[in-house]
Amino acid sequence: MLVLVINSGSSSLKYQVRDVAAGSVLAEGLIEEIGMGNGGDGDGEIEGPRDHAEALEQVDAAIHAELGDLDLAAVGHRVVHGGERFAEPVLIDNEITRAIERLNPLAPLHNPANVLGIRAIAKKWPDLPQVAVFDTAFHRSLPEHAWRYAVPDSLYTSHGIRRYGFHGTSHEYVTHRAAALLDVPLEEFDGVIAHLGNGASVTAIQGGKSVDTSMGFTPLEGLVMGTRSGDLDPSILVFLGRAGWTPEDLDTMLNRESGLKGLAGSNDMRSVVEASEAGDARAATALAVTSYRLAKYIGAYHVAVGGAKALVFTAGIGENSHQFRSLVADRLGALGIVLDAGLNAVRSKEPRVISTPASAIPVLVVPTDEERAIAEATAAVVHSAG
Ligand code: ADP
Repeated sequence: MLVLVINSGSSSLKYQVRDVAAGSVLAEGLIEEIGMGNGGDGDGEIEGPRDHAEALEQVDAAIHAELGDLDLAAVGHRVVHGGERFAEPVLIDNEITRAIERLNPLAPLHNPANVLGIRAIAKKWPDLPQVAVFDTAFHRSLPEHAWRYAVPDSLYTSHGIRRYGFHGTSHEYVTHRAAALLDVPLEEFDGVIAHLGNGASVTAIQGGKSVDTSMGFTPLEGLVMGTRSGDLDPSILVFLGRAGWTPEDLDTMLNRESGLKGLAGSNDMRSVVEASEAGDARAATALAVTSYRLAKYIGAYHVAVGGAKALVFTAGIGENSHQFRSLVADRLGALGIVLDAGLNAVRSKEPRVISTPASAIPVLVVPTDEERAIAEATAAVVHSAG
């Protein structure tokens, strides 16, 4: 079954054509600067597509040029926010599209773009089944004590202010693969998954289900990220607000100018590690803060799951930075975690164990593949609907 996976942003559209049975990628690409240009009518401005419909025409042309005529079975969309309603992937119809749109206030940058992508495809290929795969869905299993914030009840009941969690597709996919690698039935898998990319989150998994996660109402909460602060004292915002910072100023500072970038001047883990190794004190501090924060969460989630039986690293930093993994593991001696320096240093695209046999629990590196997970979920939904 061939599935077109779409990740539609406000000004970009990322796509992959996947052969689900073979687990392979047949074509992929990224259309950028949507809505910023004139559709290429030659008057010298940026030649971006005018809108998502035009971007889709470019995707169609690119796929056609690369693969010729092909028989797409479905489209799978990465949808950022599924609110409280969506606990699993769904077949999209008009009512579902409107439900995703009603969640716009919770994800004002992302859900409107997802809906634009869905509508553009419905118009171009009205008969093609579309499936929404939500970034929040895997975390619908959080118990209330983990998703509630201790603020007046009306903030939850009137504004939906609660922990939703994100990166769910990745956390779920990696949980399945880690359980398989350890030969543990999914329902018996208790562990901690650290998804460390530009955005980073850590999830507590008990019995194969998410029971806590570090991102919250938005993806800002939790770990120190590439450009996001993660946790801080909320009074800092009140303090800055009184000093004249606008909500937009605060948003920009917290989401784009903080994290590794704020501390070390770069949001790229490779440069920060290199700078630290070359003696840069700011980079060393950034690494210490970032690894300490993650280690604290791992300790907390070890408790949340009633004793983690595995620790798993994934995404850009988690899969590639042996230096960062080792900084984190060095802080986890209290949990009896011991990395094997040789195994940790191996570069590989395969899921693998990087701890010693003496380690109290195994530490794993499991590459994530959100597009693969979306394609598989899409195929499963279409299959069960047909
Ligand atoms: P995104 O959240 O955008 O999908 P990725 O999962 O690609 O992000 O992760 C990006 C992060 O991974 C960056 O901080 C980058 O520096 C880091 N990274 C990628 N490759 C390596 C590497 N070989 N060594 C260390 N860090 C790496």
